[in-house]
Amino acid sequence: MDRLLQHVEDRFGIRASARKLPSERDQNFLLSDDSGQRFVLKVANASESRVILEAQNAVMDYLSERVPFCQRVIGEIVQFDGHYVRLVTYLPGVPLAEINPHTPGLLHDLGQKLGQLSRALTDFDHPAVHRDFHWDLANGNRIVNEYAPLIEKAELRELVVKCRFEPETELRRSVIHGDANDYNVLVDPEMMTVSGLIDFGDMVYSYTVGDLAIALAYVALDKDRPRDAAREVISGYTSEFGLLHEEREALWPLVRLRLAMSICMAAYQQQQQPENEYLAISQKAIEKTLPRIYTDEYTIGDLMATRQRLLGRNLSVAYEKPLHIVRGSMQYLYDDEGRRYLDAYNNVAHVGHCHPKVVAAGQRQMERLNTNTRYLSELILEYAEKLTATLPESLSVCFFVNSGSEANELAIRLARAHTKARDMIVLEHAYHGNTTTLIDLSPYKHHGRGGEGAPAWVHTARLPVSVADAQHVIDMVQKLDAPLCGFIAESMPSVAGQIVLPDGYLNQVYDTVHDAGGVCIADEVQTGFGRIGTHFYAFEKYGVVPDIVVLGKPIGNGHPLGAVITTRRIAESFDNGMEFFSTFGGNNVSCAIGLKVLEVVYEENLQAHALKVGEHLLAGLHELDQRREVIREIRGSGFFLGVELVEEASLVVNQMRQRGILMGTEGPRHNVIKIRPPMPFTDSDADQLVQTLDEVLSRG
Ligand code: PMP
Repeated sequence: MDRLLQHVEDRFGIRASARKLPSERDQNFLLSDDSGQRFVLKVANASESRVILEAQNAVMDYLSERVPFCQRVIGEIVQFDGHYVRLVTYLPGVPLAEINPHTPGLLHDLGQKLGQLSRALTDFDHPAVHRDFHWDLANGNRIVNEYAPLIEKAELRELVVKCRFEPETELRRSVIHGDANDYNVLVDPEMMTVSGLIDFGDMVYSYTVGDLAIALAYVALDKDRPRDAAREVISGYTSEFGLLHEEREALWPLVRLRLAMSICMAAYQQQQQPENEYLAISQKAIEKTLPRIYTDEYTIGDLMATRQRLLGRNLSVAYEKPLHIVRGSMQYLYDDEGRRYLDAYNNVAHVGHCHPKVVAAGQRQMERLNTNTRYLSELILEYAEKLTATLPESLSVCFFVNSGSEANELAIRLARAHTKARDMIVLEHAYHGNTTTLIDLSPYKHHGRGGEGAPAWVHTARLPVSVADAQHVIDMVQKLDAPLCGFIAESMPSVAGQIVLPDGYLNQVYDTVHDAGGVCIADEVQTGFGRIGTHFYAFEKYGVVPDIVVLGKPIGNGHPLGAVITTRRIAESFDNGMEFFSTFGGNNVSCAIGLKVLEVVYEENLQAHALKVGEHLLAGLHELDQRREVIREIRGSGFFLGVELVEEASLVVNQMRQRGILMGTEGPRHNVIKIRPPMPFTDSDADQLVQTLDEVLSRG
């Protein structure tokens, strides 16, 4: 030691005492001279090449003029006992790892300083840092492949292997510090700001976003809410240096990869040097943190918190354990961990989630033209032609809008224009949409929580249990003291609990309404397009012909598309001089998609398929009903089924979700399981559903 200090005095002109500092590769000493000034003496590992040390000195020289938080170099590189020795200034501060808690201000400041560093380094280069370096994040997969087998704990080993990551697009590269871990970041504990970033020993030409990812990996350690902490760092970072889209996407996978690499390297190094304590320093926390940031609870907790902050809170989330769905294909949905769910209730993806023909049709049209309906186009005419062909002849005029709500809203306007009246009859528990008028018209909403009851123009008829209940509507019409505008109902009420109306009921009601001068609106948003199997529309099952048909959900297979189809006479009454126009309604892309959905429904024979598989499913459910007392009734047709339980169905539905099958609840008592799968649902999907439901019910 004395010889080394003498050497320092000879070469750097500084007479000092020394204390050893902890370090991984180099030997570092804290030097204090007589005047109390402090320096760090860095004695490089014997195997370290001079050119790498030169690069480190070069970057410190370069940064000394650009950022205030890096060490400065004093003198040249010298040699001592076969080691290269350098002297740099000492930066005061406490390692970030020893600061508790990490305040939001500190984390933001860390981000800002890392952002300043990234910005400063964009114009720095040195040949020595274009190297194949084992700590380089860009080499992460190789490290995991090579060293993961050395990890003793099987569970940890499997997790580490899952952290391999290949960016989808090539990431921006530049020189990075490469090791902004929580011992290399120094903090001024009074100011709670970052006072230093030390040790450029891992400097490498790599992903620019790497410094941020590495810092986040260590910031995540021991945190209850790592994403919140990370958000502070990221916001500080981006206030200084912008992230590209692909960098944001890659950020968390790189954080995980970094922790995985750390575990791998530690496993390797511990095998090589079982007595080295430094190696173990951060391993405990890393081994605890990686599984936590890997699991979906972590991401989901974070998404939920952000959602609470950014979105209106009266938007509910399906399931007790929310799903983070990232991909769909036909009757399957996939979550962020690649788990597959059988979708048994999302009827919007009518012909299948992301049906390739529908996707292609939309994509093709999007590349060519997307504009409004005030220009001539064959597409909208072909679509209107094909759509009206699915309906009785009297329903011959189409209006295109963007949702079921807009379609119902327009239907009400058409009815009012035609009858010059306002009073409407609706069914108990019905839902027709989210606009002001439709909330007034939907007992499910205005009689539910937060509702203000029905306005005077809305009359609620009881949900029929037998054809005799038509009398209720007849009496109601007779007692009206204002003219009747019309009657609106789903021909198989869905929100009310997947109800099949008694035969003959709608016929009597439609006749009564027509006799009173009103119009009949069939809301086929849930039931149309072959879903019930026996018929293309649910009203056909009862042999009635509505005056206005409202379509939504399935017709765009997820693309926002709604349609109103009515008679020539009603359309003429509506044409009173005021133009009807919807900016997006009926645009070229929507029409291309709507047309393709309709074609696929026919090409793939989906109505017949729904009938056949629906019958198979019903048979399975009825068989289950024999054995499980909790089932009260099974009803519906095709792929529009309800399983009514004697108690609330939410527990069952949540347990089904845990087993990979997605269903929902309906009905005023939430005791009806709704089954309305995308139409490609198969017999074996049905078997899986019945078998899983059997398991779940047997536990109840
Ligand atoms: N009518 C019925 C029968 C519905 O079920 C819904 C939506 N659940 C709507 C209308 C409203 O459709 P949207 O949410 O597309 O506005």
